[in-house]
Amino acid sequence: MVNFDLTDEQQMLQELARDFANEEIKPNAAQWDKESVYPREAIAKANELGLLTLKIPEEYGGGGMGSFEEVLVLEEFGFGDPGFATAAGSSMLASYPLITGGTEAQKEKYLRMVTDGKIAAYCVTEPGAGSDVQAIQTEAIKDGDEYIINGQKMWITGAGHADWFFVLAYTDKNLGYKGMSGFIVDSDLEGVELGKKEENMGQRCSDTRSVTFNDVRVPAENLIGGKENDGWMNAMKAFDLSRPSISSHAVGNARGAMEEAIAYASERNAFNKPIIRHQAISFMIADMATKIEAARMLVWKAAMKSDSGESNTLEAAHAKRFAADIAMEVTTDAVQIFGGYGYSEEYPVARRMRGAKVVQIFEGSSQIQRLIISREMLQK
Ligand SMILES: Cc1cc2nc3c(=O)[nH]c(=O)nc-3n(C[C@H](O)[C@H](O)[C@H](O)COP(=O)(O)OP(=O)(O)OC[C@H]3O[C@@H](n4cnc5c(N)ncnc54)[C@H](O)[C@@H]3O)c2cc1C
Repeated sequence: MVNFDLTDEQQMLQELARDFANEEIKPNAAQWDKESVYPREAIAKANELGLLTLKIPEEYGGGGMGSFEEVLVLEEFGFGDPGFATAAGSSMLASYPLITGGTEAQKEKYLRMVTDGKIAAYCVTEPGAGSDVQAIQTEAIKDGDEYIINGQKMWITGAGHADWFFVLAYTDKNLGYKGMSGFIVDSDLEGVELGKKEENMGQRCSDTRSVTFNDVRVPAENLIGGKENDGWMNAMKAFDLSRPSISSHAVGNARGAMEEAIAYASERNAFNKPIIRHQAISFMIADMATKIEAARMLVWKAAMKSDSGESNTLEAAHAKRFAADIAMEVTTDAVQIFGGYGYSEEYPVARRMRGAKVVQIFEGSSQIQRLIISREMLQK
């Protein structure tokens, strides 16, 4: 039987994250966004509370918990501010390939850096290769006990603050995607060059830039898992782990927009009554609530399936596609409910709407999720 009740421990974790969102994220989110400030201090505080590394095993300083606990926390971060949720999530995204495929020494060194508060970033996308990951050009050539990496990565979240990168590169181009390997690259190595911070439409507190690798010499011990050509599977497995969390942050953003819309619609009068008393508005709220509830259930299922050790590729794609799309719809409707004030940056719903858009694009666009879903359905 499916049980939707949270355990006492899960409720406490959810409350801790909700308090953090209300006290540390919400009061600062507008300023971070306006000034494009990376929320370094708030990220450090969240890390000290253990909220950022729940899924890193305890032996490396993490929480040793599951996807389900992580989605509970990420919903609260998204409720606080979608930009903060993305900025705070880069280190876990980069850590997943290590958790699933790293050697003991790699985990001990690099996962511990993350639990100690260092930042990591996930470098897969390139200027000419986003959805089509096989089209990447970055190459790693073995030279003695080192690899020499050349290539350019694009749109890398957290790059400007990262201490290490997960980098996907070809070690054997003749093998197609089966010739890719994952590397850990320290950001202070010679030949690592950062681009300028991108001026994005939304989530402006998150740091996004290109990273160029010019003849970067990486010790062979930084080949993830110590084995060439395992990179593709590792990078894709990371998405199965991260998609429930990114979906949950979209649910939280939508929930925040709905709560703000309810509060505003209860106060704002038109035609001698609060606008929430006009059925067209209250039905919009009803539809928001249904969409949020449905998206949360998909997210929880994807997380639970991951925690049970089964493949959750299909469930994670359902959750990502649906949660990203409903967050866009709900935040857009929230702007509508605010009327002219919704179009102003004085109110939070405009920031939420701008912030919702990118979730339909990154970590596999809504179209790519549909490709995954249709492929999985055909296989069934
Ligand atoms: C703010 C931000 C942060 C990001 N952070 C990271 C990060 O930390 N690390 C990282 O590696 N990447 C990151 N990305 C990159 C992101 O994952 C890619 O932008 C995304 O995968 C889409 O790739 P693209 O931009 O090259 O678009 P394209 O792949 O060129 O796609 C363009 C459009 O075509 C559609 N499309 C493509 N192929 C198909 C198809 N077969 N069928 C139907 N439609 C298709 C897409 O859905 C999209 O609408 C980030 C991007 C942004 C904007």
